Amino acid sequence: MPPSTQSADPHRSDVPDPSAASAGGDPSSRRTGPEHAGPVRPSADRPEPGSAASNSAVPDRAASERTEPDRPDPRPGSQRPSSQRGDPASVDPGALGPDRLEQVRLQASAAIATAGDLDELAALRTLHLDGRGAPLALARRALGALPPPERAEAGRRHNAATAAIRAAYEARLAELTAERDARVLVEERVDVTLPGTRRPLGARHPLSALSDHLVDVFVAMGYEVAEGPEAEHDWFNFEALNLGPDHPARSSHDTLYVDPVGSGLLLRTHTSPVQIRTLLSRPLPVYVVCPGRTYRNDAVDATHSPVFGQLEGLAVDEGITMADLRGTLEVFAQALFGSGLATRLRPSYFPFTEPSAELDVACFACRGEPARQPCRVCSDEGWIEVGGCGMVDPNVLVACGVDPARYSGFAFGMGLERAAMIRHDVHEIRDFVDGDVRFGLSFGTGN
Ligand SMILES: [Zn+2]
Repeated sequence: MPPSTQSADPHRSDVPDPSAASAGGDPSSRRTGPEHAGPVRPSADRPEPGSAASNSAVPDRAASERTEPDRPDPRPGSQRPSSQRGDPASVDPGALGPDRLEQVRLQASAAIATAGDLDELAALRTLHLDGRGAPLALARRALGALPPPERAEAGRRHNAATAAIRAAYEARLAELTAERDARVLVEERVDVTLPGTRRPLGARHPLSALSDHLVDVFVAMGYEVAEGPEAEHDWFNFEALNLGPDHPARSSHDTLYVDPVGSGLLLRTHTSPVQIRTLLSRPLPVYVVCPGRTYRNDAVDATHSPVFGQLEGLAVDEGITMADLRGTLEVFAQALFGSGLATRLRPSYFPFTEPSAELDVACFACRGEPARQPCRVCSDEGWIEVGGCGMVDPNVLVACGVDPARYSGFAFGMGLERAAMIRHDVHEIRDFVDGDVRFGLSFGTGN
């Protein structure tokens, strides 16, 4: 473009400008002015102030607030307004020419057709189609600068070019999307026939499972769960339970005492001290079940262990009788070994209950029928010894501040290992403390 030697300098204010009022005002009013009616056919690139407007016929443009006079139409009287968007540089009516639009279409289509991936395609869409700086967008802005007779045709050309580029975009989008989907299908393919990565499951300890099962049975009958310390004071473990310091039954407990000597502490030999603590701490009536670990100085063999689990129950209320004990134990025994099994109470002795009894339940394996014997479960006895029970000795109630004239109660207890061994035909009590997960797994992973 030749540098202008004419008077198109937009900054020149000494040039009269008959259209100055409209040039700086509403663009539409300028477009409709007679001096703007002519076609605009410049094909120059971005015009620069003072150089683009070489037509001296339009000196009035110089005073326009629009500082970028585009190349004016060479025909007399034709003049187009400057940009309507505030960026005169982007308005290039020549961009709407068939050749230019075709060039834009070819460039855009070629670029789009070679887009390597969806990201690149998206960038090309902005660059060629949708972006503010896209050639099509720039050309569209110039539409308004055309004289009305030419606008329709230019608009159609523009639309056609836009549609063609959009079609190229859509086609490439479909191709790339299909390629990506196919690639994802391959890359993320899962062979469902392959063996999975199995995480080995642990197992609940069979004693915990059994204890929880029995506790559930009592909770269903309205009992609460009570627990106490395993390092217990002599008074709770023995004296309050009617086992004075010189009581001969103490010797059968093979107690493990806790240092220092004279501290009065020992490892509880049964869960019965929890009954004492319960009576001392809870308001009457009391219905509690007490599961827990207990300790005795026993040598380990197939049926003895220095640590073993017990589960005890205690009910103290007004009017409690042996019949209540019997009915409760029947539910308990059947929860342990199955329904429909008979129970019996054999007279026995415990220091803390009076009267006392041993609870037996009919053998679930042979049910006492000689035809089904010999029976390994009950050694042909027909009965399985489950635990001890009795009516709470009044001395125990007194020790706990309970009036035996008003209240009575029953208590029962059992060894969890023995019950589990009978229930599951386990022959070695040591299996319960060995910690071999395969032993626990044989009982299942749940209850
Ligand atoms: Zn049997």
